Amino acid sequence: IHSKLPAIGTTIFSVMSTLAAEHGAINLSQGFPDYPCDPALLDALAAAAHAGHNQYAPMAGLPALRAAIAAKLLLQHGTAVDADSEITVAAGATQALFTAIASVLQAGDEAILLDPSYDSYAPSILAQGAKPVHVALMAPDFKVDWEQVEHAVTPRTRLILINNPNNPATSVFSAADLDALAAIAERHDLLVLADEVYEHLIYDGATHQSVLTHPALRARSFAVYSFGKTFHATGWKIGYCVAPPALSAEFRKIHQFLVFAVNTPAQHALAAHLADPASWQGLSAFFAERRALLAPGLESAGFKLLPSQGTYFQLADYSAIRPDLEDVAFARWLTLEHGVASIPVSVFYQQPPAQKIVRFCFAKQTQTLQAASERLARLG
Ligand code: PMP
Ligand code: GLN
Repeated sequence: IHSKLPAIGTTIFSVMSTLAAEHGAINLSQGFPDYPCDPALLDALAAAAHAGHNQYAPMAGLPALRAAIAAKLLLQHGTAVDADSEITVAAGATQALFTAIASVLQAGDEAILLDPSYDSYAPSILAQGAKPVHVALMAPDFKVDWEQVEHAVTPRTRLILINNPNNPATSVFSAADLDALAAIAERHDLLVLADEVYEHLIYDGATHQSVLTHPALRARSFAVYSFGKTFHATGWKIGYCVAPPALSAEFRKIHQFLVFAVNTPAQHALAAHLADPASWQGLSAFFAERRALLAPGLESAGFKLLPSQGTYFQLADYSAIRPDLEDVAFARWLTLEHGVASIPVSVFYQQPPAQKIVRFCFAKQTQTLQAASERLARLG
């Protein structure tokens, strides 16, 4: 086979979850909750299926769901979004990201990524015959040097990808970051792909700075969201993309032939659930409590914690525990020898910096976090 993606292996999330399962480790690697989602959401799903909503949904998404998303965005940001021409429901954020990338990148184009970057971005760009151009952000705060980003722009650059809050860095953008991004995008006429799947998971009084609230960015961005994150249901694989009509039209040209439409009964259930703002408000407080449950166990095991400003992940420096190991080897060792699975951070860099950091997911039940802490205590 003449491989299209010769350098791409299996995603780290499959690798670590498989390893965790094989060795009976507590899985704090791949990001997903281990507690049930709201029973009302499950009832709404069953009700929609029993009501006969079991055939194809409209290509761009169920009108009721798109209307509920538009109403949410108006309440959340005061931003008016046209449900018909600016919102497309996708099979998860992963598909929305791939679709947005495929709809605007041609062979030979360049797209700028800020590393550590979520692992689907670079392969999605490479699959178009385009080139990912990586700008590295450094621990512990992963601040963006926007001058460095602008230096990475060439006449072939078409797109900048951002992830705010950032997985795995857990950093969040300030309003000044958005201004700096907008200035670069305008000066070089670039499009922006904003992965905002963790929009509601933001801590310590910080506020989410969405591209949808920034007029200059709103005009040139795809913004991508995931119900998997917001409703604790990663297995539902439904998300959406918000973009101005001309960008949404290009997005739908790909979307219609990649998936055509997304699971119909689930879209009905999500529309009903989203109508109640309580379904997405209060998530920060909920996850801040989870974060606080995991932190002491990690610290007493000898990890040095980095600030977790957003997402449901905690970064931890293990240099005091096994300075001899690279992070991939450390994550494997911790899974096999101590029964706790994590994600090495170097895999999210094109050129990994010399740092010893792994990522733990705290979207877990109290008993899971306590059990992990007990296992980790044997390290200290
Ligand atoms: N972007 C980021 C930053 C993520 O962490 C994830 C994983 N949840 C996704 C996109 C993919 O989301 P989905 O499960 O909806 O495809
Ligand atoms: N986004 C999840 C994480 O960062 C994983 C999703 C996936 O496995 N594709 O852990």
